Amino acid sequence: MPRGVEIDPQAGFCGGVIRAISRAEAFLEASPRLFSLGAIVHNEAELERLAGKGLTSVDSLQDVPEGAPVLIRAHGEPPETYAAAGSREIIDCTCPVVLQLQQSIRLAHARLREDGRHGTLVIFGKIGHAEVLGLLGQVGGDAVVVEDLASLPEALKDADMRDRVEVFSQTTKSPAAYRALCDAIAAAMKEARGGVPPGRDLAVHETVCRQVASRYSSLGKFALSHDAVVFVSGTSSSNGRVLFELCRNVNPRTHRIGSSADIDPSWFRPDDSIGVSGATSTPKWLLEEVAGYLKGI
Ligand code: SF4
Repeated sequence: MPRGVEIDPQAGFCGGVIRAISRAEAFLEASPRLFSLGAIVHNEAELERLAGKGLTSVDSLQDVPEGAPVLIRAHGEPPETYAAAGSREIIDCTCPVVLQLQQSIRLAHARLREDGRHGTLVIFGKIGHAEVLGLLGQVGGDAVVVEDLASLPEALKDADMRDRVEVFSQTTKSPAAYRALCDAIAAAMKEARGGVPPGRDLAVHETVCRQVASRYSSLGKFALSHDAVVFVSGTSSSNGRVLFELCRNVNPRTHRIGSSADIDPSWFRPDDSIGVSGATSTPKWLLEEVAGYLKGI
């Protein structure tokens, strides 16, 4: 039996996901079915629990019967989705933080295009991710999406770096990676301007979600405070992948699992203190189940 098992106090769903799931559950108490446009959360176990209540995940609006209710998840959607919904009732669970980001991007785009200017709108995010598609939709696709520092030169090859640049981040990106990307953009602008720094022509918007940013900073400390860490997350969660890597970098005895069935007891020593953490899409009940299992090995 391990010396102790602690659940990361900061782990569990973020506010946007909690809000979306409680709205879906409240809706399903009065109605037998609800269709979610994409998975409401990137966690297989939680999706299965919600499917039992009548929530079906679909890939596109075409899969939702005409007149049936459709849920827009916390990631948000582009304006075209609302227009295409037709007679279907929309349960809009776009996270308020994402709504604010969508509005900021629309305003920045209007500023950049004022009087026919050719400035560049940069979004630091995962190409094809639902939140990023929703952001691109706010500006008719007139933005450059950059996935990482390595792809920055290619992504900006057609941009005029002597003109204004406004930068936004997808809400779940790492704050440190975002800072590094913005520094590289500033350097590229300086070079394009013959060594003159961009000054106010570079606008960096602090749009990494505060809840995510605080998880990035606290997770490393949590991982270090235990002999071993069990990181619980769905296989499709990109946030889960990044947070798991962060944990493993500071504590090499970190194991990623989907549920307690994936645990190999030989990973642990009898006097180990084990930390249990997870992605922003990992439900608290699953962390508790895993912690309970670990206490009994
Ligand atoms: S990570 Fe932040 S912005 Fe994204 S859904 Fe959760 S609370 Fe909202």
